Amino acid sequence: MTDKEAKGFYNSSAWKLKRMQILERDHYECQDCRKRLKDAVAAGVALRGEERKIRRAEEVHHIQELKEHPELGLEDDNLISLCKSCHNVRHGRTPKRCPRKKKPVSEERW
Ligand SMILES: [Zn+2]
Ligand SMILES: [Zn+2]
Repeated sequence: MTDKEAKGFYNSSAWKLKRMQILERDHYECQDCRKRLKDAVAAGVALRGEERKIRRAEEVHHIQELKEHPELGLEDDNLISLCKSCHNVRHGRTPKRCPRKKKPVSEERW
């Protein structure tokens, strides 16, 4: 599948409907967050802060890449609900936290 075809797929109403169904199926919970928690409990590892949360799923991921397996594009078993950050991890896009330089607060004088 080409980029153009993939784009067309993501714009299709069939995908939009399927996407909603998958999010509902997964109760809008990120399945990777859920797994991380489950694994931690099984391993007896205590998670801290943010790591304890199951984030809200906002995206639906193709386990087998759409472009490689267009025939699985609408297969329930090939779809999983993920939050943005887990989705990025799945695609190897670990966003570097851009250290925003703090501007020195300029005191206002008059
Ligand atoms: Zn997640
Ligand atoms: Zn994805």
